[in-house]
Amino acid sequence: MSEIAHPTIKDGWFREISEMWPGQAMTLKVNNIIHHEKSQYQDVLIFESSDYGTVLVLDNVIQCTERDEFAYQEMITHLAMNSHPDPKKVLVIGGGDGGVLREVIKHDCVEEAILCDIDEAVIRLSKQYLPGMAVGFQDPRVKVHVGDGFKFLEEYKNEFDVIITDSSDPEGPAESLFQKPYFELLFGALKEGGVITTQGCTFSFICVNLVIYFLWWLFYPSITPHFGIAFWGVYDRFWRWHGHWHWRWRLAFSSILVLIFNSYFIYLKHMLTYTAENQWLHLPLITKLKKDCKEVFPNVEYAYTTIPTYPSGQIGFMVCCKDANRDTKTPLRTWPAEKEETINRYYNAAIHKASFVLPNFARAALR
Ligand code: SAM
Repeated sequence: MSEIAHPTIKDGWFREISEMWPGQAMTLKVNNIIHHEKSQYQDVLIFESSDYGTVLVLDNVIQCTERDEFAYQEMITHLAMNSHPDPKKVLVIGGGDGGVLREVIKHDCVEEAILCDIDEAVIRLSKQYLPGMAVGFQDPRVKVHVGDGFKFLEEYKNEFDVIITDSSDPEGPAESLFQKPYFELLFGALKEGGVITTQGCTFSFICVNLVIYFLWWLFYPSITPHFGIAFWGVYDRFWRWHGHWHWRWRLAFSSILVLIFNSYFIYLKHMLTYTAENQWLHLPLITKLKKDCKEVFPNVEYAYTTIPTYPSGQIGFMVCCKDANRDTKTPLRTWPAEKEETINRYYNAAIHKASFVLPNFARAALR
């Protein structure tokens, strides 16, 4: 044992005691206290445990252990990333250990990943003592900002495809990240539908439509009888009434119809996930979070992962999407099964779906 002492460690055992989980406490056997400091925002403790590797503790609460961190980092990241068709610009709020970044950059489509953590100490110490997670900082697509995630978000509008909030618990510096004004900021910072959001397939869809409209306009009325569906019929009748229009008006009218028609298909596609505590301990809090999220996002689902060193062995995520019709429970993108097994230790397409299936007591509360 090192000479450094810490109030949470007695007789060689770390004890995680908190009002957030009354009457129970996770204990881990400590081999060695590696580092302890009071940063500007929180108490930072790093110790080597007997069976869970290096452990990061903030304000006496376990943030991650080398042995099981992947169950959390992979799920909070890929639930959002794989529910988006083509995430290019990603924001991580919190996540100073680098684990979520490590997962984000597994997606080749990502062009830029920005991390905003309030505490430089977490980033500095993770780089030093948790290299398996901090490896995420080394990718050239990654940019780091040290500051409050709430304030950071206020500066962005329609900017990100995916936002992942990997913050500490709602006591301390992360308190503002668990309230409705924060969800509103998240909503605003996610990209809206429109020109910038037209991804590859939607763009080609628009092009095909434009060509059809143009040909139609050029050869009208000889080809119109071939279009049997209602929309074309309405358009055809309208056209007959206004067939005397100047060609410029016809073109303008066709273009407006193209825009209206396609806006349905390019409707908002943007995703975020959000840590949402434990079903056994925090059901009222999760219910409130879901309600608050639903007041801001049209599409909100709750998923969870299992992880031995978080309270009661489980932690949940709010998966929110601006697109009311998106099925976030089914991944839009998947890795080939072989690749999935080599790059991920927890996440796979089947567990993506399964993570939204809740036991009755939680399902009833969260309905
Ligand atoms: N996975 C962990 C968990 O759920 O226990 C969270 C780990 S991560 C290290 C939490 C990070 O959130 C910390 O590095 C902390 O500094 C950061 N954080 C807390 N409040 C924040 C805020 N208001 N803005 C940005 N980052 C914040």
